[in-house]
Amino acid sequence: MSDGLMCATQAAQAAARVMARCDQLAEISETPGFLTRVYLSSEHLRANALVGEWMAAAGMTVWQDSVGNICGRYEGLKPGAPALLLGSHLDTVRNAGRFDGMLGVLTAIEIVQSLQAAGQRLPLAVEIIGFGDEEGTRFGITLLGSRGITGTWPDSWIAHPDDDGITVAQAMAAVGLDASAVRQAAREVKDIVAYLELHIEQGPCLEREELPLGVVTAINGAHRLNCRFVGEAGHAGTVPMTHRKDALAAAAEWMVFIEQITPQHSPQLVATVGSLQCSPGAVNVIPGEVALTLDVRGPEDQPLATLLSALLSKAEAIARRRGLIFSAEEYYHIPATRCDAGLQAALNRAVTAVQGRSLLLPSGAGHDAIAIAERWPVGMLFVRCDRGISHHPAESVMEKDVASAIQAYDRVVRDVATT
Ligand SMILES: [Zn+2]
Repeated sequence: MSDGLMCATQAAQAAARVMARCDQLAEISETPGFLTRVYLSSEHLRANALVGEWMAAAGMTVWQDSVGNICGRYEGLKPGAPALLLGSHLDTVRNAGRFDGMLGVLTAIEIVQSLQAAGQRLPLAVEIIGFGDEEGTRFGITLLGSRGITGTWPDSWIAHPDDDGITVAQAMAAVGLDASAVRQAAREVKDIVAYLELHIEQGPCLEREELPLGVVTAINGAHRLNCRFVGEAGHAGTVPMTHRKDALAAAAEWMVFIEQITPQHSPQLVATVGSLQCSPGAVNVIPGEVALTLDVRGPEDQPLATLLSALLSKAEAIARRRGLIFSAEEYYHIPATRCDAGLQAALNRAVTAVQGRSLLLPSGAGHDAIAIAERWPVGMLFVRCDRGISHHPAESVMEKDVASAIQAYDRVVRDVATT
C-alpha cells in the first residue's frame, strides 16, 4: 500500500483547497454574515450542487438521492464492486461553524481526487455522501440523511412539521423531492463494505494531547432524565434548621455527589445537571420543590447504566434521610455506538504513520455514523479543533492539521479498500 500515497506537498495543496472550499460552502447560508443551512432549504440544494461539481471534477459519478443526500461514486478495479463509503453532513446548526460536517465531505473528495490524478483504481469502489440532515436543526428529528441510506425512516417522519408548520413531505416537494420515494435512498447491505467519517473533535482532548488526529472508539450513549426533589416550603425565619425539608439543599448535596463520583466510575463518563428550577423561589422561603435535569453519557452501555443507577439510588438515599421524596423520569436514551475494531486498527496505523503516535478517544457528540452503524462497520477519524469550540462561528481548525488528516485518511482508505 505504499504505492501512490499522497506526499506532504500534495496533502498541503489538498488541505489548502479544502479550507478554501469550506469558506465557499460557508457562503451558502440563509442568513448573510453567519452560517445557517438547514435540511431541504434552497441553500441545502445549492450546497449539494456545488459539492456535486467537486465530486464530478474528482472523477466521480454524481447523483442526489431521494432524501436529498449528495452522492458520488468512484469505480473500483471491477465496475459494480462493493464500496467503501466516506462522508459526513452538509447541514448546520444555526449560526454554525464552517467545519462541522463539511470537513469530512471535502477531505474525502481530496482522497478520490488523488486516486484519479494517479489514474488509480482500488479493489473496492469509493463512494462519498454529503448527508442532508445530521443536526436536526429544522425538524427537531435527527440523522434524516443517514437514516435514508439505512432505510430506517419511521413512517411518521414525512408528516413531521418544522417551526412554521411545513411538513417534511411538503419541504421535500418544495425542492423537487418526492416523499413517497424516501425508501429508494436505502442501500443494499451487500453494496457497502464499511463507512469512514472524518470529523472535527468538537472537544478539547486532542488539543490537550498536542495531537492533530485521534481515532474514535465509540460514540457515546446518553440518558436524559427529568428529576424532582419534593420537600416542604416554609418560613425562612421561623423553621429551625433541624426541622427543615429543604429540596434545594438536597439537590445541592446530590449535585456535589454526581460531580465527585462520576469520574471515579470511569474518566470517560460524564454527568451534567444542566437545569434547575427552585420553587417557590423567594429569598425568605425554604425551597419546597426542585426540578432538575440529569444528562449522563459514556462510550459503553453497561458502565453508563451502572453509573446512572448509582446516581439515582444516592438521590433516593439523600431524600430519605432528609424526609423528602425523589422521583426521576427518563425521557431520552440512545445506546452507545461502537466503532469497528478492524477499522479502528486501520485508522490507528494510519494516524501513527502520520503523527508518530495515535490517541483513542470516545466521541461525546452524535454523528451520522450512529445510523450507519446499524447496517455497516463504522470508523471515525477526529481532527483537533481550536479549544474544542463547535456549533459556533469561532469553530476553527489549522490548515496543517487538515493536511495531516488528509494524509492519514488517504492511507486508511487505500488500506481498507485494498484488503
Ligand atoms: Zn457534525
